[in-house]
Parts: sequence; C-alpha cells; structure tokens
Amino acid sequence: MLQFDILTIFPDVFKGYLKESIIKRAQEKELVKVQVHNLRDWTTDKHKQVDDRPYGGGPGMVLKVEPIYRAIKDIKLKSKKSLVVLLSARGKTFDQKMAQRFSRLNQLILICGRYEGVDERVAKYIADLEVSIGNYILTGGELPAMVIVDATTRLIPGVLGNLESLEEKRLKKLLKNNLSGYPVTHLPGYPVYTRPPVFSPDRKQKWSVPKVLLSGNHQLIDEWRKKKILQYLKKWIPG
Ligand code: SAM
Repeated sequence: MLQFDILTIFPDVFKGYLKESIIKRAQEKELVKVQVHNLRDWTTDKHKQVDDRPYGGGPGMVLKVEPIYRAIKDIKLKSKKSLVVLLSARGKTFDQKMAQRFSRLNQLILICGRYEGVDERVAKYIADLEVSIGNYILTGGELPAMVIVDATTRLIPGVLGNLESLEEKRLKKLLKNNLSGYPVTHLPGYPVYTRPPVFSPDRKQKWSVPKVLLSGNHQLIDEWRKKKILQYLKKWIPG
C-alpha cells in the first residue's frame, strides 16, 4: 500500500477532493492511504507560528525549517521506499513517468509551501526531491500535492478496476508494437463521444460524432483510435 503524507498549513483544503470518486474508493480498498497533517502541530510556541520574515529583507513570510524538520522526523517511515518531496515551482517537472515511479513507493511525503516559500534548508537537508507541476506560480503547494496524489493513485494496480475496459485492453495490445515498451498507461487517451450522435446547438450547426465510431466495425475503430493517440505522442515523448 502506498501512503501519502501531506504536510500543509491549510489541511481543510484537501477534505472535499479526497472524499470523492476514485481517490475515495482507492482509500476504501486500502490501496492507498492519504494522511493530511497540519504543520502547526509541530510548533512549540503558544502562537503556533509556522512562518517568519525572510533574512535579508523583502516581502512576505517564509515557512520555518524547525516544524517541518520535526514533522518529517515523526511522519517518515523507516523504509527505503519512502520519499520526501518539496513542492516548488523551480523543481523537476512532474510527469507520467514520475507518477509511475511514485506509485511503486511505500510512502510519499509532500511538503506544501506557502507565501514566499520555504526556508531553503528544507530543500537542502530534508527533501529528497523538489517537484513542480508546471511553469507557473501557484499560491501554495496544496494543489500540486493533490495533482500528484491523483495521478499517482490512478497507476496503482486495482484502483481503476472495471474502468479499464476490455476495449482499452484491446487497444493497448494494438499499440504495444508501435511504442517500443512505452507503457500505454502513460499516454493520453483517444477522443471519446457519447449520445446523441448529432447535437445541434442552433438551427445552423450540427456537431456530429465521427462516422467510424458508429460503424460497429471494431477493426476500423481501433485503427482510428490508434491514429489519434499516435498524433498526441509527439507532445508526450520527446524526440
Ligand atoms: N517566490 C516563491 C518561489 O519562487 O518559490 C513563490 C512561492 S509560492 C507563492 C508558494 C508555494 O507554492 C511554494 O513554496 C510551492 O510550495 C508552491 N508552488 C507554487 N507554484 C508551484 C508549482 N508550479 N509547482 C509546485 N509547487 C508550487
């Protein structure tokens, strides 16, 4: 089982998301465990202060190193397959390959920064890895942590269950030869449609489902889907 431990000063942010749909069921099936910790629980002063002004001046507040150090010491399992990640816009960009790597761990600790960021000693001495979810600056590390929990959980065997339909399995077989070992679970899907076959938002327009999908010819459907997926590959596989 993979245990996620999220360290944050805004634990309530996670409540809704973790209680819905696939992530909820993965926890019920005990395929993952998601624990959200309030960093303030590791403060020692009466104001439970987790941040302070930056040395050298400048705007904003910086998350302090001591509560984070104490929290990690308490939370971290004694396992070689435990990884401490600091969410940071300058980190290594999260992608499907990284999600696959994370899905094989026993524990993933995610430290969420806020304000002007986190005392640099956390990156230097405590975290194993700094991870960004893209080249933009967010208000905090909570959304990146949720993105990582979500993308990683989907890759754990048994989580998607029946959602991985026979159709998809058939397509995986088809694609294997083309991708020289690149797992199909790493790829974006083909375009999907559902009823009605033609939707008219007004009298002039007709938005139709591609004819091939209504043909009932599974060989043609597979080929069409495969062609679509291969079009997306350039973006996903560099070179
Ligand atoms: N000037 C700070 C910096 O460059 O790190 C901005 C800090 S940002 C407002 C607050 C926190 O949000 C960061 O410490 C980090 O944990 C998180 N964060 C912001 N953008 C992120 C991104 N693209 N990926 C991962 N975490 C991000």
